[in-house]
Amino acid sequence: MAIFGALKPKPMKKIAVFTSGGDSPGMNACIRAAVRTGIYKGLDVFGIYRGYEGMIEGDIKRLHSHSVSNIIQRGGTVLKSARSMEFKTPEGRKKAFENLSAHGIEGLVAIGGDGTFTGAKVFYEEFGIPTVGCPGTIDNDIYGTDYTIGFDTAVNTALEAIDKIRDTAAAHDRIFFIEVMGRDAGFIAVESGIGGGAEFVMVPETQTDLDAVVKSLKKLRKTKTSSIIVVAEGDDLGSADVIMKLVKEKIQDPSKEFKVTTLGHIQRGGNPTARDRVLGSRCGMAAVEGLLSGKTNCMAGIMNEQVVYTPFADCIGLPKPLNPDHLALIDILSI
Ligand code: ATP
Repeated sequence: MAIFGALKPKPMKKIAVFTSGGDSPGMNACIRAAVRTGIYKGLDVFGIYRGYEGMIEGDIKRLHSHSVSNIIQRGGTVLKSARSMEFKTPEGRKKAFENLSAHGIEGLVAIGGDGTFTGAKVFYEEFGIPTVGCPGTIDNDIYGTDYTIGFDTAVNTALEAIDKIRDTAAAHDRIFFIEVMGRDAGFIAVESGIGGGAEFVMVPETQTDLDAVVKSLKKLRKTKTSSIIVVAEGDDLGSADVIMKLVKEKIQDPSKEFKVTTLGHIQRGGNPTARDRVLGSRCGMAAVEGLLSGKTNCMAGIMNEQVVYTPFADCIGLPKPLNPDHLALIDILSI
């Protein structure tokens, strides 16, 4: 008898979850959700430690429901994270595949950023192990989800710092340049800038017009004695320190004090906000449900409150623009 259509795929029994690239608050909530959803659906769930590095070294352990108890409120990642050069080589990926096969792992949940998804895409195309990703990065620079896991916490951490700096800026009539993270994206800068009442926000997505900034700062001096300028780390003019020196040189006012604060890694740590815990939990569950329904080579994200699966190729390749209304808002409110 002729058989028409595709054969039904063999039901998946064993999956593994890992975190990779830069850590972000809410990754633990995501791990917990993936592990518990897998167990709820009758799967054996494994944890791969230190991302692709652990996959290559075979650092893989069975996880149980209690393995992920008491982690939802913690920043970082209990599975640890790493950046692996070896996974970028065909030999490294072959070793990783052999270790997964030795454990009988038939599906992967990859929690990380665009680099992690680039690796996952290459690996899936080479070895065919179904993989669904979850957007774990503070930068919010991934297409296919309104927000990434960790972004909200990072913004709130930056905001808390900006509030504190504002106190001292006002007390001493200082101009503060505050550098926030975000790699090539300005999302953290824009949201913390709006929330922190910044006079200017400098982001990689727009060309920073130094002369316009200097002109506005001179004008603002008539009404304000201190100013906050939030600089995204990837700004086209350089770091906050470089920009501060350029502005200082152009303003030529010895009575004015210019200061720089680089917030750095505090933005990656801390207890995740409720939003990041919910987002991490939703994405972790959606990733496992996606795997079980035959999805692969894609990321589970949340857009307009709905779970959306977006091919890795789009998550990596399509731009995620800043909301121009947000930029206009900063300009208008800083008068
Ligand atoms: P974040 O945005 O928070 O830094 P990320 O996932 O983008 O997170 P990366 O360090 O860029 O972090 O990538 C994580 C890992 O993914 C790399 O260390 C590497 O092992 C793997 N990876 C990245 N690009 C590739 C590639 N082209 N081929 C194979 N593996 C890759």
